[in-house]
Amino acid sequence: MKVLKFGGTSVGSVQSLLNVKHIVENQREAVIVVVSALGGVTNQLIEMTRLAQSGSDDYLPMLELVSDRHRQVIDGVVPKAMQGQCHAIVEQFLENLRSFYGTLALNRELPQLEQQRLADAIVCHGEVMSSAVVACMIEGAVPHFSPNFIKTREHGDTHVLDAELTAQLIAQEWLAPVEGIHVAQGFIADDADEHFKTNLGRGGSDYTAALIAAALRADSLEIWTDVDGFYDKDPRKHADAQLLPEMTYAQAQELCDAGAKVIYPPTLSPVAELGIPVWVKNTFNPTATGTVIRESL
Ligand code: ADP
Ligand code: ASP
Ligand code: MG
Repeated sequence: MKVLKFGGTSVGSVQSLLNVKHIVENQREAVIVVVSALGGVTNQLIEMTRLAQSGSDDYLPMLELVSDRHRQVIDGVVPKAMQGQCHAIVEQFLENLRSFYGTLALNRELPQLEQQRLADAIVCHGEVMSSAVVACMIEGAVPHFSPNFIKTREHGDTHVLDAELTAQLIAQEWLAPVEGIHVAQGFIADDADEHFKTNLGRGGSDYTAALIAAALRADSLEIWTDVDGFYDKDPRKHADAQLLPEMTYAQAQELCDAGAKVIYPPTLSPVAELGIPVWVKNTFNPTATGTVIRESL
């Protein structure tokens, strides 16, 4: 069994989602697919929160853009027989968003903590909607809800993963052996004590995928993104960047800690502890070999 994580650009358009479908449906073993929000949507959700909190209804046209984008990808990628159901699911989430933003805009005096809880509930919707589209797009895919098993606890004003509880709950969610295709949200989580929605931090979908891969002792973790693999420096900023076909966990961790955004820094440690290989691959060039990260070269 493998865990495949697809980032925002990979699920960001009709064409890229069709690539995702092709990649997933061509796997020969069971897979758990972890998805980010459609590219740019998390930023838009946060920006709309800011606008609503300022009492402005300028969030409304942006919400219409986000809504239309999801409707368009559903029409472009979901098989006809599932489209009605998929639209209904996503419309319900869009309705929740309208109501959350309305509450923020109309109640500017809400206590800070309540505003924060609403903002956290809002930001989850990017992954909730993208995963609904991906699950409806792939015939027979089994949907999962990551806050049921990715658990955080409050420490001061941050949310810290409860690693032990999370590993236990993941193992209960997927009683071995895992078969077929499963879809779950990256990034989003739930407070273990009070059950409000939280998240693993910006870029955190990689970490969700690694936590699932480690808890289930997956054969590998694949991070599908928008570049051919891990480079010695950001290939979008440096024309002379060199692709690294193989790296050790330690080498990759060093580059991640230095800001290589291709993998969210906490991601490697749970899989490195178990020696699970991590592949970095390009959704837009799936036949390229990519980078493998493992214990030794
Ligand atoms: P995703 O949405 O798939 O999670 P990210 O934007 O988080 O994608 O990460 C992929 C991006 O990371 C690439 O587009 C690239 O610009 C950037 N990046 C920064 N450093 C590196 C590196 N050393 N190797 C590869 N990509 C890098
Ligand atoms: N959607 C979240 C973000 O934009 C998580 C992720 O993409 O990994 O930060
Ligand atoms: Mg990322």
